[in-house]
Amino acid sequence: MKRLFTTRTNLFLLLFIVILQGCASLGLTSKKSNIIETHIDLNAVENDQLLVSLDPGPFPAGEVTFYMPSVIPGTYEYTDFGRFVTNLQAFDKNNQPLEVVKDEKNTWKIAEGKKLDRITYRVDDTFDSPEGKKIYPMGGTKIEKDEVYLLNLHGFVGYFKGGKEWSYRVTIDSPADLVPFSSMESVSHTATQDVFLAGRYFNIIDDPILYTSEDSISFSLEDIEVNLAVHSPTGAHKAADFKETLVDMMEAQKRFLGDANNTKSYDILLLLMSMEELRHFGGVQGALEHHTSTTVVFYEGIDTAALKEYLTDVVSHEFFHTLTPLNVHSEQIHYFNYNEGVMSQHLWMYEGTTEYFANLFQVQQGLITEEDFYSRITEKIDLAKRYDDTMPFTEMSTKIVDEPYQSNYQNVYYKGALINMCLDIIIREQSGGTRGILSVMQALAKKYGVDKPFTDNQLFDEIVAITYPEVGDFIKTHIQGETPIPYIRFLEKAGVTIVDTEQKLPSIIMVTPQQPFIAPQPNEAGTMDLVVTGLNNRLSEIGFQAGDVLRVFNGAEIPALTQENMGALNMLFGVSFDWKPDQEVTFEVERAGVSKTLQGTVGVAVAPAKGIQANANATAAQIALRNAWLYE
Ligand SMILES: [Zn+2]
Repeated sequence: MKRLFTTRTNLFLLLFIVILQGCASLGLTSKKSNIIETHIDLNAVENDQLLVSLDPGPFPAGEVTFYMPSVIPGTYEYTDFGRFVTNLQAFDKNNQPLEVVKDEKNTWKIAEGKKLDRITYRVDDTFDSPEGKKIYPMGGTKIEKDEVYLLNLHGFVGYFKGGKEWSYRVTIDSPADLVPFSSMESVSHTATQDVFLAGRYFNIIDDPILYTSEDSISFSLEDIEVNLAVHSPTGAHKAADFKETLVDMMEAQKRFLGDANNTKSYDILLLLMSMEELRHFGGVQGALEHHTSTTVVFYEGIDTAALKEYLTDVVSHEFFHTLTPLNVHSEQIHYFNYNEGVMSQHLWMYEGTTEYFANLFQVQQGLITEEDFYSRITEKIDLAKRYDDTMPFTEMSTKIVDEPYQSNYQNVYYKGALINMCLDIIIREQSGGTRGILSVMQALAKKYGVDKPFTDNQLFDEIVAITYPEVGDFIKTHIQGETPIPYIRFLEKAGVTIVDTEQKLPSIIMVTPQQPFIAPQPNEAGTMDLVVTGLNNRLSEIGFQAGDVLRVFNGAEIPALTQENMGALNMLFGVSFDWKPDQEVTFEVERAGVSKTLQGTVGVAVAPAKGIQANANATAAQIALRNAWLYE
């Protein structure tokens, strides 16, 4: 998700990783008029593709239109799953082909719809096709014969015009030694065949299935049954490794949410991927939320301790989505349009509130310290600066699938969370500490809930009506308006201040915790060099200058910057994270065509930083507000 890798990791991750989170949404009651028999045979993989067969009931007359989805709830981008479908064929009852015309990216038309009995097509997966790299892995598809199948079924199964509410009976033949993990309703299960029931197309998207060899754990949280299934290609990680972490975290979430949660079961599908796959997706990792499950994708090479921390952040975020959008969402989400991006203006809430709670509950429940919480807020303030601070959040939200809004999406995890922090402080201040943004969300969840959407342009008025005029002012100015938020003004109310400080860097090669001191740049020979683009105190003292071309890194020559050498480069720079301050190091650079040797001790590299901390001179009133904000 939003937090970048810091200590003891490798340069490759630092250079290229963006952890993203996608997010899915909502439901309504179904009126069943048809059932689509859906068949997928996981044993019959050809050219890394699966054959899908859909047999709907009869169509009364005229043309039949079939769609693959273009937009998936929670991902806020065009996914266009039609691009992975080939050889779509339609047949009548006598197995005779009917004419099919492809119309645009995700649409097929069958003129003689009345005669249609079934359609079949082949589907490529996103994990190793060139087009697939554009899709977040947690919303993608993976076909690895006899090993693992990630069935985000929206990548395999489409829908008929007028048939989004029809049920699907999904029959899947599988290798005997793989088992399915899913929140989808199971009708029957044998070693080699499963039958699932999806009440409507929404469930095809909302209930992904992971087929892998058996490695799972379960536990009960009062009345919630939680399951974790893990696919670790080399067996480096086991589901049991994460049980304690998840139990502690989810118990704390339950306590934090109180009445606001009525989920009955929750499935966590954790797929760990290879370095090659991580590269395929440009370093993207993270999770996609669903109503009663989440798909989580991380790089397998992360050590267990770090993976526990990321799982805590990512899974707690996803689980908080059971509050919003599950129980609080607009009509745009309730009646989701899978083929056009028709978006709600409330990403500040769907993602922002969720992400804010995923941090607040950890300090409130004692999983992290107050200082940890402040450093997370500091980090969000820093990261938010990379995005357009004058872009109204509501406008960004409604146009998020298109540019320039799409490239500001990640800010929902930074500024989106900070918006909620400010609202929380305002509500705590106005209510004498007794209410906060959580009580507002609880009231909204009670009023609306899973089956009842709110009207998109009335939500703000409702929130103001149950809170205070100051909340309305903030919304107008900083959520709908273009004015950047003066965070310090809100933090000061709670006796928290921003100070100049410095932070220790995880390695001498880093300029900030996220940015290494070198970057690949093309040279005159048409290849790439590693050029010094930034310095810290230690690098300057050793003698580096911006523009130096790095040739030798502590005795190791820099290999050609190619995909094949990425692993070697990782190893080479990765060791610097373990260097001790008194260690002697040597480098060779080329400066204006002349080779130079630079040497010195590693020392302690630091970067200037703004830090949030409790104000030692806070008044009693400020301290009371702070305690209400963080601990009540
Ligand atoms: Zn999310």
